[in-house]
Amino acid sequence: MVLLDGKKTSQEIKEELKIKVNQLLAEGKKVPHLAAVLVGDNGASITYVNAKVKACEYVGFDSTLIKLPADISEDDLIKKIDQLNNNDDIDGYIVQLPLPEHIDELKVTMAISPSKDVDGFHPENLGKMVLNLPCFLPATPYGIVQLLERYKIETSGKHCVVLGRSHIVGSPMSILMARKHPYGNCTVTLTHSRTKNLKEITKSADIIIAALGKTEFLTADMVKEGVVVIDVGITRVKDETKKSGFKLLGDVKFDEVSQKASYITPVPGGVGPMTIASLMVNTFKAVEMK
Ligand code: NAP
Repeated sequence: MVLLDGKKTSQEIKEELKIKVNQLLAEGKKVPHLAAVLVGDNGASITYVNAKVKACEYVGFDSTLIKLPADISEDDLIKKIDQLNNNDDIDGYIVQLPLPEHIDELKVTMAISPSKDVDGFHPENLGKMVLNLPCFLPATPYGIVQLLERYKIETSGKHCVVLGRSHIVGSPMSILMARKHPYGNCTVTLTHSRTKNLKEITKSADIIIAALGKTEFLTADMVKEGVVVIDVGITRVKDETKKSGFKLLGDVKFDEVSQKASYITPVPGGVGPMTIASLMVNTFKAVEMK
C-alpha cells in the first residue's frame, strides 16, 4: 500500500509556486493577492481560513483576511463582495463556507465575479469545467486530480465510484473523473443517500472517492483488493486526549481499508492540504488570466 501524501505533494506545489512568485518579483511585477472572507466564528472555518492565509504567506502571495460578524445581513455581505469584485488589487478571493443559516450560500456564490472565483464554485466556472474550457476548477476536486496525477495513478478506463453529490466536492469530482483527459477517462458512478446496493457498487470500484461527511463509513468489506481510495471527509470528533479536545476523522475506516488498498489518502494530511495548494494554483492562474 502506498500512502498518498497530500502534505508532501502540496508542499511540492507550493515550492513551485514560490519560484514563480520570485520570477514575478524579479520582473518587477505585482505578486498574486488572495482575500478570504470569514463570516462568524465557526472553529473549523477559522482553522481552514488561517491555513489558507499561512499558505499565501509561504508562497509569497499577498493575503487579506476579512472577518465579518455572524449576524451580518445578506445584503451587507453582498456589498462586501461587490467591493472585492471591484478592487483591482485583489486577484482572487474565497468566501469560507458554511455561512450562517440566514444567508443564502448560492446567492453569495453567484455574486462572486467568475474571474476572481478561485474556489471554482460559480456556475460560470462549473459550466466551463463541464465544457472543458479554461476555468477555475473547484479547489478540492482539483486537488484530488493533482494528487492522482503526481502519483501517476492510471485512471483511464477505470471504474471510479464517488460517494456524495455535493456541489463543491462529489458532483464536480464525478465530472472531472469522467472527462476526456489524461487524469480522467474513468467510467464514473456517482452515489448519494438514495443509492441502493451501495456495497455492490463500491466492491466493483477501482477508485473510490469518499465525500459524505460520515465518519469511517467505508469499511474493508465494501472494497476490493488493490482499490485506490481518496478520503475527502473531515469530521471533528471529541477526544479528551488531544490538546485541542478533538481529533479529525475521515469517511474511510483507514486501519482496515488500507490493508486492501493499493493507494490511500490519510486524514489528516491527504486531501485537506491539496485543497489549499489548489487554491494557491488557482490564485496564480487568476493573475495569468488577467
Ligand atoms: P455534504 O454537502 O454534506 O454532502 C454529503 C453527500 O453525501 C450528499 O450528497 C449525501 O447524499 C451523500 N450521502 C449521505 N449519506 C450517504 C450514503 N449513505 N451513501 C452515499 N452517499 C451519501 O458534504 P460535502 O460538503 O461534500 O463534504 C463531505 C465531507 O468532506 C465532509 O466531511 C467535509 O468536511 C469534507 N470536506 C473536506 C474538504 C477537504 O478539503 N478535505 C473539502 C470539502 C469538504 P444526498 O445528496 O442524497 O443527501
